[in-house]
Parts: sequence; C-alpha cells; structure tokens
Amino acid sequence: MCRHLAYLGAPVQLARLLFDAPHALARQAWAPLDMRGGGTINADGFGVAWYPGDGADPVRYRRATPMWSDAALPALAAHTRAGGVLAAVRSATTGMPVVETAAAPFAEGPWLFSHNGVVRGWPDAVAGIAARLPVRDLLTLDAPTDSALLWALVRDRLRAGVPAAKAVAETVTEVAAAAPGSRLNLLLTDGRQVVASTAGHALSVRADTTSVLVSSEPLDPGPAWRAVPDGRLLVATPSDLDITVLGRS
Ligand code: GLN
Repeated sequence: MCRHLAYLGAPVQLARLLFDAPHALARQAWAPLDMRGGGTINADGFGVAWYPGDGADPVRYRRATPMWSDAALPALAAHTRAGGVLAAVRSATTGMPVVETAAAPFAEGPWLFSHNGVVRGWPDAVAGIAARLPVRDLLTLDAPTDSALLWALVRDRLRAGVPAAKAVAETVTEVAAAAPGSRLNLLLTDGRQVVASTAGHALSVRADTTSVLVSSEPLDPGPAWRAVPDGRLLVATPSDLDITVLGRS
C-alpha cells in the first residue's frame, strides 16, 4: 500500500533516506513492517524528487520498476544532497496500471504530492467530485489512478490559492464522504512546508529544531520517532511541527 516520506532541513544525502538508514525507503519497499489494508511489497514503481536549491523547482526521477532494482539510483542518491525531498514506493491497487506516470511524486511548479492508500468504489464513488474539475485536468491526469485524481483535486485548490494544509484537509474530507472506507494518507510539500494526512495508514515523524522527516515507517529504531495517530493533519516546517485532528483544523 505504498510507503512515502518527506524531508525538510539541512541538506541531506538522498542515499541516507533511500538506502543507508536501517529501514530506509528501499527496505520499506521489499520489507515493510506496517502495511495496513493489504499489499505485501511495494514493487510497482517509485519516485524521488528533490529541491536543487536557489528556489528552483524540484527535480524528479520516477520509474515503474522496484526501487531496489534500479541501476542508476544508488549512484544518483549517493551524489545528490538536498534540503527538501519527497520520495515514494508504490504497490499498485488491483486494477490500476503499473506505469511510470502512476508513481508518486506528482508535481507542478514547486509542489510535490504523494498518496498512500486507496479510494473505495473507484472510480464511480468519486465521479461527482471529479466532474467539478476542468475537463482539461481530467484529460491530462498523470495516470488513470485514484492517486492521480487526488493530486488533481489538491492541485485545483492550490491553484485557486487555498493554503496547502486546507487543500489537503478539504480533499480528504470530501473524498472520505463520497467514498467511505477510503485510505487517504496524503503528503504534500513545496520545499518549505510539509503537509500530511493520516486516514487509514501508518505515519511517523521525527523532528528537531532544524529538520523534519515524515515517513510511513520510521527509518531507524531511534527514540526520536513519534507515531502520528489516525485521523490527523500534520503541518511542519524545519523548525515547527503541528498535529491537529483532521476536519477540526
Ligand atoms: N491506489 C494507489 C495506486 O494504485 C496508491 C496505492 C498504495 O498506496 N499502495 O497507485
């Protein structure tokens, strides 16, 4: 059921997040510890995006193959450092295509987005919600998947000037009402702030005064990790962490 992470803070080597930590993302891909709601491994693609600095938009690398089998990624990750990173490994929901464009992060401008979960009753349950998006957005979805539609719904709010935390919270509330039982762990960043929801899946956070790392599963057994309870909205910068009850923020 996918695993994702986002880091903001002092520049870090991508390899530390993806390969070197004891329970780094590549390990979470083949040996996840807390998959809720089905799925065993996350072998249906991956994506990594990072902010190269000087305010530039993120650079993204996605593939439809398992993270652990990618020949180029280890060297790329060993020689890339960034102060903002969003990465994900995918376990495709049954019936959804295994293609590069279905792997998070989804991106536009400074924004990076990932979804861990499933929209129940897809696609009929959310047809009404989707219909209020511009037809152009529906015809240019990254992929015919629930996650790509969720991104289009969040992006539509961001384009309208809705603040990131509100865009995520409103999208979760709207989709959960239309498609009960959905699992909607969303993750969004612009490189300055990270917003995450917990709705049906695991999420942990490790924060100090200069960095924040949000991840489906802790990357190491260190005591600084804290589990985010279900039904929460997390909003963080490298120096601030706020966790509120979803729908009440
Ligand atoms: N339902 C989404 C997809 O198939 C995300 C899956 C997940 O969280 N495993 O892409």
